[in-house]
Amino acid sequence: MPLFSSGEQGKEHTSTPQETANTDSRDQPTARKLPPHMQRIIDERSAPRLRPDASVEEQRNAYERRRMALQFDIDQGELASSPENPWSHRIQLLTEALADVENELREAEQVVPGPWHPLPATPIRDIDAEKDEAVRLRFSIDGETFEFEELLDWAERGTQVARPELVQTRGDAAKLVPEDTPNDLVEPLRQHLGDSVVTFATDMRDHVLDNDPLPQDATLADLAKPCPTCGGWTDWKGACDTCAARKGRAHQLFQERNHLMKERSAEAEERHRLAERLTLARHRMRDLENEIAQWEASLKK
Ligand SMILES: [Zn+2]
Repeated sequence: MPLFSSGEQGKEHTSTPQETANTDSRDQPTARKLPPHMQRIIDERSAPRLRPDASVEEQRNAYERRRMALQFDIDQGELASSPENPWSHRIQLLTEALADVENELREAEQVVPGPWHPLPATPIRDIDAEKDEAVRLRFSIDGETFEFEELLDWAERGTQVARPELVQTRGDAAKLVPEDTPNDLVEPLRQHLGDSVVTFATDMRDHVLDNDPLPQDATLADLAKPCPTCGGWTDWKGACDTCAARKGRAHQLFQERNHLMKERSAEAEERHRLAERLTLARHRMRDLENEIAQWEASLKK
């Protein structure tokens, strides 16, 4: 049986800032702090209970441990109440980091024009699909034929839940890039059309699987319409890579900002809690010193 069972008192204050930051202090502002009378009840309950036959040496050690734990509270409280304290220092650093992230966030939210160059309204022809166990698709644009088929995993035949992967087996989107495309846009447009052709094929497959009619009157221009937000190319379904990247970056920075704010309020909370406990800790230290004095007096009898 441990002689001194409430060694936790000192331990709870040695938590690192990271551990503290994980506590969501904004969601549960009262979770970390108890009213003083409740705290006293808990502290008294966790005060060391010595065996009735504990030796004088054991009793002295127990008192010393209680005294050290209280002294730790007092030291932390005094540190937290002093003008130059580690919590305020960390709060200042976090505030600076927060300002940087907020600047970056404002910048990331700015819409910059996406790459764009017009494409001719060349019709997408020979649109055709076959469906048995797998789906096969075909269409041609400006003489370039594209073919796609689902890759059946024969081992899982009949048991597959998700649709098999749709694979492009024919066609080169690079051939659709207009002659007059500015040099710096040739490669981005080739990539865009490569992706947009896949989106078109995937949409065709959805129509086939739903027994809906295949897209009619589609043109090459429909694979690269300008984005209403940034003016850059959108794919056949209207998705814009430039806007998606901007939103992704902004979201990441927003999360970072929230994380820093949470960390900062946890630091402030910790500082406040420690400073607030100082008075109580000093009271209890006086009580303990009286108790020790009485105990020592009783030994002399
Ligand atoms: Zn856009």
